[in-house]
Amino acid sequence: MAFGRYSFMHRRFWIICSVIAAGLGVLSVLGLSSLGMHEKGLRAERQQEFITVAEKVRFDVKKKLDTFLATEQSRAYTDYQYYYVPMADNQAAALVRSPLGGALSNGLAYGYFQLDSTSQIVNPYAVSPDRASSVVKDYVGNLERNLLPALGNGESLQVTRIEPSDPKEDSLSASSYPARTLSDYIPSIRGRGAITDRKANEPTPAVKTKALESETPGKAGQGKKVASKSKSDSSRRSRYPIDLEQTDKTIQVQNRSRGNFYMNEAYNVANSRQQQEQVMLDESDLLAQRMMPDMNSFEVGQVQREQFARQKEQILVPNEVQQAAVEFQGQMSDVDIPGLNDVVQVRIEPFTPITVADDNGDNGVFAGQVFLLRHVQIEDQHLLQGFRLDERELLRQVSDSTQQFLRRGMGFDISKAELPEAAYTAVLDFGFGEVVLNLLERQPDWIMARVTQIRNWFFAILAIVWLAVIVALATFWRNMYEQVQLSRKKDDFISAVSHELRTPLTSIRMYTEMLEKDWVKTDGKRKEYYSTMRQESERLTRLIENVLDFSRIQRGKKRYEFTMGNVNTCIDEVVEMMRPYADRAGFTLLTEFEEVGSFSFDRDAVVQIVINLLDNALKYAREADDKFILVRTCQQKDYVVIEVEDHGPGIARSQQKKIFDAFYRCGDESTRQATGTGLGLALVKRFAEAHHGFVEIVSAKPTGALFRVGLANHYGK
Ligand code: ADP
Repeated sequence: MAFGRYSFMHRRFWIICSVIAAGLGVLSVLGLSSLGMHEKGLRAERQQEFITVAEKVRFDVKKKLDTFLATEQSRAYTDYQYYYVPMADNQAAALVRSPLGGALSNGLAYGYFQLDSTSQIVNPYAVSPDRASSVVKDYVGNLERNLLPALGNGESLQVTRIEPSDPKEDSLSASSYPARTLSDYIPSIRGRGAITDRKANEPTPAVKTKALESETPGKAGQGKKVASKSKSDSSRRSRYPIDLEQTDKTIQVQNRSRGNFYMNEAYNVANSRQQQEQVMLDESDLLAQRMMPDMNSFEVGQVQREQFARQKEQILVPNEVQQAAVEFQGQMSDVDIPGLNDVVQVRIEPFTPITVADDNGDNGVFAGQVFLLRHVQIEDQHLLQGFRLDERELLRQVSDSTQQFLRRGMGFDISKAELPEAAYTAVLDFGFGEVVLNLLERQPDWIMARVTQIRNWFFAILAIVWLAVIVALATFWRNMYEQVQLSRKKDDFISAVSHELRTPLTSIRMYTEMLEKDWVKTDGKRKEYYSTMRQESERLTRLIENVLDFSRIQRGKKRYEFTMGNVNTCIDEVVEMMRPYADRAGFTLLTEFEEVGSFSFDRDAVVQIVINLLDNALKYAREADDKFILVRTCQQKDYVVIEVEDHGPGIARSQQKKIFDAFYRCGDESTRQATGTGLGLALVKRFAEAHHGFVEIVSAKPTGALFRVGLANHYGK
């Protein structure tokens, strides 16, 4: 039965183990896969951060460009002249210096210039090209070499003057002069089909120049490369249009009085013909030379800029020029020109980018020099005004914006091409060209490092959990095993007790019956039967005493009565009591008592110790050749030692510790010869402990068991 229960528990245990192991296994797999998902999530999040940075940069750069263009667009057309007469009520207003006169560089604009219908280059910083500084000369030379050919050498600017039939009638409206647009002056652009032809008077629509730049060799090649790359890894790169098309494209109309317009035109013509050469001091050239030693060095430091601005304020129009202006105005007032107070409309178109190849061969990030041009029409006069886009300043602004929005651990590189190590590439498409903004990961493997760290923690925790579960299951297994062993021992105990009870009871019943029926004829036999019945009753009593004592001890109810006495006397009485049993079994009981003196002990406990040890010796040494049992007492330091020695089979070393456990019996129940309950030695041990003593087993010579029970003798002394 115990075996059946054991195997059932065994099976149940393994089922529990399997369920727990399966659960833990599933948890481990789930944990690992969620780690993988976490890694993917981190990568996606980081990717999103890069995209957000690129978006913000695009927005910021676009805002800067729009603001810049809006400022440039709102400039009066006269700002592009060296001197001009501002629009004022007083017709004799003095000449003033152009606000753009101070420097070649102004934010994103570099080198303002104006082209009139004769392809004359007028600029606000050099009164005469001959007297200009080398920086200005270089720049103007660049315009002549590169820009003018692109614009058809200015030939297209030659327009036929269309006289209004009656200037007085039409002076209030500019619409009688056919409006032209910038594309009318740039045949090279129109020829490439980027700009569709429009009818006269139609407001300028958004001018597309993308086709123009894509035809530039370097750019076209790059464009193709980028396109093919984007197919393979579109999530890591994207285009961000910063198109000037999206900026305000309204055509401005400014009003001026005809007198003011004539005056400015006259000065402009005079200036371009270098008539005032002898009287004008080119103070801005001097400044330009001082401040701009190198044309390409646009990075004028902040201190220099401020210094420059201060000096600019001090520049006054030279007296000679003012004098000439007053004279000119006097001449004008002498001549009777009709309609001087009429309103003249100045039509200013929005800026349009145009990319022109650089003859230096150094095209920078764009395919060439980018110029922003606007068409200004004043009645039948057509002007092109504009400036070169300061590419390096633009890149600096892109760089500033990027710096501002970068997140932790990010870096960047601005170049023409996509870098292979870039975590995300934003192609800022300006319409006239592209800037490739490579966003970099400063520590490219930080996500992997973080995931590895979490993974290590995960494995460590997993290992601890597995260990804890294994330890718990092992403990559970051990407890279960012990429970099973205990229950097996109890089963054995019950069958042993039944057996132990049955044997003496059977013989008592048999002898009683014989005596009762008077079947025993002789007195000797009768006496023998009575003696046997007594002995069997005593055996029963001993058995029951053992069981009861063990039960009392287990429940903590066992009471000991320590009294002073001589232990040798007590033991001798027990030996004498057991002698008849020994005689019957063919044993000789010997005693060797040493004088141990009087000490305090529980008499019943000592009696039971000696009975149990003698009983065992009689039981287990039954087959021994040497049938002497020696009971000895001696004094050993703090202990009175009782020894019982037999010469039976003895006890194997491996069993020696276990025999003192309750219900433990050596060997197998089926093969066991001697009867017993497995409580005898357990009680001996408990009683010895109650006397603060010990029990041990020593192998006897040549064979046999020698039990030594020590009782502390210091009580009552
Ligand atoms: P039992 O009722 O079985 O005698 P005990 O607790 O007295 O129970 O003894 C435990 C076991 O120790 C016995 O089953 C027996 O195998 C072994 N044993 C005890 N005394 C001796 C001995 N003198 N010689 C051999 N074996 C012994």
